[in-house]
Amino acid sequence: MPVAAAPETVTCRGERFRLYLDEEAISNRIAELGAQIDADYADMEEPPIFIGVLNGAYIFTADLMRAVTIDCEVDFYKLSSYGAEKVSSGEVTLKKGIDADLEGRHVIVVEDIVDTGLSMRYVLDQIAAKNPASLRSASLLRKPAALKVDAPVDYLGFDIDNLFVIGYGLDYGQIARNLPAVYILDEDGE
Ligand code: 5GP
Repeated sequence: MPVAAAPETVTCRGERFRLYLDEEAISNRIAELGAQIDADYADMEEPPIFIGVLNGAYIFTADLMRAVTIDCEVDFYKLSSYGAEKVSSGEVTLKKGIDADLEGRHVIVVEDIVDTGLSMRYVLDQIAAKNPASLRSASLLRKPAALKVDAPVDYLGFDIDNLFVIGYGLDYGQIARNLPAVYILDEDGE
């Protein structure tokens, strides 16, 4: 069955967004990250566990996991989101912790986007306190110009411009997560 190409522009909550990263660019980069993770964890006795950060990272976590061929596990954290805003509130609230025991485990935190870095920092600190054997992080996107705290990303998809993005799991007031590609706010198109 033919699959329709992602449209060049979309309107979400009355604002215009333009195609920024198409499906091919995203899946090619995820394949590279998966191969890198395969190589990095091939000799480990215990399978790594991906900790996806909900809601935004659910699609990236699913695709990244399927780009990995070694044994691996998954669990999820849930943090507060942007709400209906386009800028970070600067406050991180835990909505759901994890069930898995992470002591002695190889953990890879998976975020959709590192903006100020506060969420990634928060999750890394929470998990570090559980004494994992190793702790790394992955993020599909990062806005280097917005970073406020040290939030290392070991497996990075793309550095992007400091503008609001939607699609591929990322929402605007809870909608737009189902767009198959990443769209960026079109400041000229408003
Ligand atoms: P940070 O804590 O790094 O400022 O932001 C992390 C969270 O804010 C991300 O996991 C994501 O849910 C949300 N976020 C940050 N930037 C964007 C963006 O450009 N678009 C959307 N939709 N969410 C974002």
